Amino acid sequence: MQKLVIASGNKGKLRELSALLKPLDYDVHTQAEFNVPDVPETGTTFVENAIIKARHAAEITGLAAVADDSGIEVDALDGAPGVYSARFSAPDATDDKNNALLVEKLRDVPEELRTARYRAVIVFMKHAKDPSPIICEGSWEGRIVLDPIGEGGFGYDPYFFVPTHGCTSAELPAEVKNSLSHRGQALRELVEKLGQ
Ligand code: IMP
Repeated sequence: MQKLVIASGNKGKLRELSALLKPLDYDVHTQAEFNVPDVPETGTTFVENAIIKARHAAEITGLAAVADDSGIEVDALDGAPGVYSARFSAPDATDDKNNALLVEKLRDVPEELRTARYRAVIVFMKHAKDPSPIICEGSWEGRIVLDPIGEGGFGYDPYFFVPTHGCTSAELPAEVKNSLSHRGQALRELVEKLGQ
C-alpha cells in the first residue's frame, strides 16, 4: 500500500481528508507524524499555496502528499481577503477579529452587493518534483450578513449566508455543509481522480 502524507496541522481538515481518502488504497499519515514544520504560505493564489504545502511535506517525508488551501472572496472588496483569509485582520488573527474587520468593511455596502464565495484548492503530488500535480477546486456562492447567526462550522461561517438554504453556513448540520461546501467539492473530485 502506498504511503501518503497530509500536509496540514488543522485537526478538522485532517479528519475530513483522512475519512474521504479511506476507501482508496493509501496508507494515510499526517505531517505531524514526521515532524514536518509549517511552511510560509508565500503564494498569491490558492493553487500556489496548496502546491507549496504539498511539495514541502513531500520533500521532507519522501512520500506522496496532499495539501489544501482555502478562503473567502468578497466581491465588494475586490476578492479580499482571498488567500489571506486566515490572517485578514493581523498575522496572529482570530476568527472573531477577522469577522469584525469583514463587517466593518462591508457596513455601508447594500446587501445585494455583499456577494461572496468560499474557494478551496486541493493538490496531490506523487513526489516533491512531480511536474503534474492533481489540482482539484471547489467554490460555494453566498452573501455576507452583518450580524452573526448559527453556532456550527468555523471561521466566517456565521456571516456566510447560503441563499439556496436560506440560512448561514454556521446553521447547517456538518454533513449538509460537507455536501455543499467548496472543500467537500474539491475532496470528492480528488477521490474520483485518485480512484481512476
Ligand atoms: P487555510 O488554512 O490557509 O486554508 O485558511 C483558510 C481560512 O479561510 C480559514 O482560516 C477561514 O478563515 C477561511 N475558511 C476556509 N474555509 C472555510 C469554511 O468552510 N468556513 C469558514 N471559514 C473558512
